[in-house]
Amino acid sequence: MISETVNYERSFHVEHPEMETIEQCPVCSCESLGRTTNVTDHSISGKSFSIVECGACQFAFTSPRPDQQHIGVFYQSDTYISHTNSNKTWRDKIYQLSRQWMVRRKHKAIHKYHPHGQLLDIGCGTGDFLAHQMSRGYLVTGVEPNLTARESAIAAHAIPVFPQIDLVPALEQFQVVTMWHVLEHVPEIRSTLKQVFARLADRGIFVIAVPDRESWDAKHYGPFWAAYDVPRHFWHFRQQDLFRLLKEHGFELVTTRRMWLDAFYIAMLSESYKGGNRLIGLVRAFAVGAWSNIIATFTRAPTSSTMYVVRKSKP
Ligand SMILES: [Zn+2]
Repeated sequence: MISETVNYERSFHVEHPEMETIEQCPVCSCESLGRTTNVTDHSISGKSFSIVECGACQFAFTSPRPDQQHIGVFYQSDTYISHTNSNKTWRDKIYQLSRQWMVRRKHKAIHKYHPHGQLLDIGCGTGDFLAHQMSRGYLVTGVEPNLTARESAIAAHAIPVFPQIDLVPALEQFQVVTMWHVLEHVPEIRSTLKQVFARLADRGIFVIAVPDRESWDAKHYGPFWAAYDVPRHFWHFRQQDLFRLLKEHGFELVTTRRMWLDAFYIAMLSESYKGGNRLIGLVRAFAVGAWSNIIATFTRAPTSSTMYVVRKSKP
């Protein structure tokens, strides 16, 4: 879920959002803070936010951040593309094409482990992925807090979609749970992972995709890297952070996968945030995306985003 900028004129302002500070690192529980970087919300509010690193384990998070009553306005844009099926601009079209390609890639990643069964997609947006999985014979359920996206998923695909995980009927157990670019948006990582663990059937798989701030494109763009996407992204993961969190919550790693398309899309957005000539920006974005993927192929560097496939550990 990455926000898309179409309108640079910020018709939208937030006067005094209520902010909350993260006092304790959710990965290692340390309370001392390290380096801080200021990053601007280029896509919606134009406001500046701090990304803070934990003083002990260097996990990075947005703090202070808008609280749960006030974060909603930072998603309020006609152009928040994960919540729409917009197909107006060339960038929307590229996004929609890549979304279709990704839906097939996601199916492939899951089918290998569970070719059928009950599937729960948390943060399902307009339900494209679930509709595809339903057509492949899975019994699907979605969770989506955004009302417009949820109604669109229900109306277009007749999929049961709930506003939050704890409203999914308690008897349901899932062979597959997915969170595609969603974990970085949830206010509480640990309670979310506990909820997923509770709803996953024995030996069920849990698939997560998140941006990786150790990718070459993240380092290249620095604070302009579009996948920081503050304040909507609360958490800024590296692989070691996810490995540690998942292990502590009873999951064992099955595999990680590189996500090749993300670098191009993120580079395209990052270039637009930097401004300048659009065509040159597009060419540069293609070069940066390709180079990030080449670096990931030949070194230990991750791609712009990483997919993690884990399953419940044997008791
Ligand atoms: Zn820490």
